[in-house]
Amino acid sequence: MPLAPYASHAGASRGRRRHEPVAPTRTDFQRDRDRIVHSTAFRRLVYKTQVFLNHEGDLFRTRLTHSLEVAQLGRSIARSLGLNEDLVEAIALAHDLGHTPFGHAGQDALNACMHQDSQDKGISPVEPVGGFEHNMQSLRVVDELEERYPDFDGLNLCFETREGILKHCSRANALWLEQVEPDGVGARFLNGSSPSLEAQLANLADEIAYNAHDIDDGVRSGLLSIEQLRVVPLFERFLQETLRHHPALLGRRLLFEVVRRMLSAQVYDVIEGTQAALNQHGVMAVVDVARAPTLVRFSAEMRQQSADLKRFLMQNLYRHPQVMQTTAQARQVVTDLYAAYCANTQLMPVPRRLAPVTVSNRRQVADYIAGMTDRFAIKEHERLTGSKVFA
Ligand code: MG
Repeated sequence: MPLAPYASHAGASRGRRRHEPVAPTRTDFQRDRDRIVHSTAFRRLVYKTQVFLNHEGDLFRTRLTHSLEVAQLGRSIARSLGLNEDLVEAIALAHDLGHTPFGHAGQDALNACMHQDSQDKGISPVEPVGGFEHNMQSLRVVDELEERYPDFDGLNLCFETREGILKHCSRANALWLEQVEPDGVGARFLNGSSPSLEAQLANLADEIAYNAHDIDDGVRSGLLSIEQLRVVPLFERFLQETLRHHPALLGRRLLFEVVRRMLSAQVYDVIEGTQAALNQHGVMAVVDVARAPTLVRFSAEMRQQSADLKRFLMQNLYRHPQVMQTTAQARQVVTDLYAAYCANTQLMPVPRRLAPVTVSNRRQVADYIAGMTDRFAIKEHERLTGSKVFA
């Protein structure tokens, strides 16, 4: 299928930060995707927590399998809408590269450590010396931290891929980004313009993916039950539909079928909702996308149902006492590691050793911790503190 006129064309890319000749057989967005797949940060995603800690079970989603599901959903929707599948895939595969070990618990702990430090030193909490935020870190991974190429740090990705990776950004961080890269990926958070449709799609595909797989993982873990999920209108609708077609279906197959139908319905809804929004706003070209509000969207009804599901998962899964307990342990590990490395940089591997650690190079301590997998962080914590936080 040819690309729609409002799709991002690799040939019209705003380019890479360092110029490189075009590859002979691949577009620039395909090349970005390939660089992401070959990166070290991408391989680490397999040992990073999505919701359940990596060692809690072999079948739960990890950041890697989550990212693959986002890419699958994103590509499928992109193809129907005539958007650039390669760009959506590149953004989806990279969108979580900046996550710390232990999911959001790790990020919150690292952010708290960095903020405390900034406050103690009387510095405004702005990058590069302020807090920690995983979207900014994903960008840092692809811009600075990957060490693979002889001529530059990072992966030197296209503007459009980087724009999609920076899904959210605080005003303080956007102002800082504008200083180092005027009219760059931070600009839209200051001038209110919209990113490409592919970036918008990767963002929504992320939400669709985790809402669905967290139901699956939640039931698998025993923290949620099918009975309990029936208060969620979206789930109940497809449970009823499934049971009408397969009255004897039970257990895992029943759950899979309900989740499968839910996913399909959301995909079709986004395709229709987006087509309606494109028509409504008279979008004919890429330039119209930047001026319009977010166009990749659900219908009003599905948006409401998706929000209800999200709220249910927040109350019943993410805040489940058992999940909260591992959250507290994860915070402990990250907080202790941060304190240990700041107190003695000799504890970090040779290329990272900075003596003494100053305020500005605390970012390197954060980079090192953020890059860790769950199990490496746990092992390192045991080595440095002699205590076992996770039994
Ligand atoms: Mg995600």
